[in-house]
Amino acid sequence: MNTAEASYRSPTYHELAAPPELDWRPFRPESYFAYRREWERRGAEGDQGGFPLHLDLDPTNRCNLSCVMCPRTVYLSRGRSEWAPGGFGDMDFGFYREIIEGSVPLGLKSVKLNFLGEPLLHPRICEMVALAREAGLWVMINTNAVLLDASMSRRLLEAGITDLFFSFDSPYPEEYNKIRRGADYRRVLENIRGFMETLERSGIRGTQTRASMVLPEDPLNRDRIKADYLRLFRDLGVAEIGFGLPTVVDRDYEALGRNPGFRCPDLFRRAFVFHDGVVGPCCGDWERRLVMGDARKSSLEEIWNSEAYRNLREPHLRQAYGEVPVCRSCSVPYLSMIEA
Ligand code: SF4
Repeated sequence: MNTAEASYRSPTYHELAAPPELDWRPFRPESYFAYRREWERRGAEGDQGGFPLHLDLDPTNRCNLSCVMCPRTVYLSRGRSEWAPGGFGDMDFGFYREIIEGSVPLGLKSVKLNFLGEPLLHPRICEMVALAREAGLWVMINTNAVLLDASMSRRLLEAGITDLFFSFDSPYPEEYNKIRRGADYRRVLENIRGFMETLERSGIRGTQTRASMVLPEDPLNRDRIKADYLRLFRDLGVAEIGFGLPTVVDRDYEALGRNPGFRCPDLFRRAFVFHDGVVGPCCGDWERRLVMGDARKSSLEEIWNSEAYRNLREPHLRQAYGEVPVCRSCSVPYLSMIEA
């Protein structure tokens, strides 16, 4: 696949541009593009502003699948609980409301409602979407689409979801069912088709949809897989198609070499709030070794400007991420050198 088609690239992920007939961008206001420019600028210049532009809020750390490549599955199978020290749980709705209402006046522009779990499992997920949307935020969700039935599709659209991303890890039924343990290829594909039809009928324009998959470790068949994947989802009318590189939990990424000049852009533009209020800086630290604070005890503004955050950003600003042990062994700097 020609990577010149890539419309968006983050360190470990790239996305192919939507064709004009599926493009949602013409329906977005200028303020959206200003926010995206600021997103890129902060990461490139290492300027954290006074508050995150974006929050990843985890409605729940529960999941209805156990996908083979997911660090959560690996840790669960080993009885390791660093990523969920209090066990499984859902974010309290009142706490969520406080975060949204307190953050918008400080410059928050978007939220993504998921991190470690499957967000559609949260009993009030549609209310969460509506609340964030009413506060003027762009509201994104990554979902495995297992629970995306007709009722959920309609309620999410009524709530005002602006960006819905389907995690669907193979264009081939047998492969998909092996990877996404607990899901059924045909049923999930029907859910996605149903959502796309409901979206079309609703007359809502400007909703971004995306299907993305984690590519197999072996690069041998990647071009064929990407071509088949593109065809499958473009036929359903899904706008964006994304491909991520796999992180292997036990791999010694430090031994694979340093990425000179790497600076983790997310430290300057987004923060992650676990379902229990603990704040982390990125999606690369599943084991909670880089805890920046606890949003139940301090404000997010205090946490964003805290010593813990400053100490983490400082080596990244000098492009010396290797001085931070967790970053040194993280897959992200290494994978950002690789062409997906
Ligand atoms: S562990 Fe460090 S390098 Fe990896 S994603 Fe987090 S901040 Fe970035």
